[in-house]
Amino acid sequence: MKELYVHSEEVFRMAFNLYYYESKVECNCCKKSFTTYKVRPGRFKVVSQDTDFMPIYEGLNPLLYEVAVCPNCGYAYHKSLTRTYGPFMLLIKEMYISQLQKPMDICKERTIDEAIASFKLVYLVARSSMEEDLIMANFAMKIAWLYRLKEDKESEMHYLRSARELYAKSFASNKEGEERLQYLNAELSLRIGDIEEAKRGFSRLIAGREVSNKYRNYARKRWEDYKYSNEAKSEEELKEDIIE
Ligand SMILES: [Zn+2]
Repeated sequence: MKELYVHSEEVFRMAFNLYYYESKVECNCCKKSFTTYKVRPGRFKVVSQDTDFMPIYEGLNPLLYEVAVCPNCGYAYHKSLTRTYGPFMLLIKEMYISQLQKPMDICKERTIDEAIASFKLVYLVARSSMEEDLIMANFAMKIAWLYRLKEDKESEMHYLRSARELYAKSFASNKEGEERLQYLNAELSLRIGDIEEAKRGFSRLIAGREVSNKYRNYARKRWEDYKYSNEAKSEEELKEDIIE
């Protein structure tokens, strides 16, 4: 019996070594160390992207391991956070840490639900330290993507709506970023069913004199695909009506 146990433990270690590595983190909040899984770079490949830039991966999904959550105090960290020092840490301790019930231990292999929890925690950290809207918007977007993977449409829509609201308040630091925000506003509007706003946004990108080819093409393709699939749909509905 004991041999079998050792054997399965060994198999587990081998599988772990193939897919993940353990990253050592010193917690910025409680200063204790912990290790958390990261996907090995060779174990995933971006094969395409969804129309709202969600990367489609082959192999494992590194998105599940982007947020490190300290199992000792509950502090959650993502590389995009900027307000992680001095007075901001005091705010995080007061507004976030002190409100936590019990820190979660999600440092090993994660389910999609655990990954969603990790992003919700880092979203709360970011809100406590008053991070910029753009950072918050990106978290809301990633939570929506994880719900999409889970095929939970209702929750996905909820977070796409939050992301659109936050992107609307965001500022970009350059022209490319500005165009990306405009595109995302139109794209998210389309996804949540605000067709008028989507049409306005895509039209501005398609017709704007200063707009780069990249975003003009994205916008044109997306709007044409939408119109085409919608026309096809209404034709089918029309046929069904006639048959009835
Ligand atoms: Zn900690």
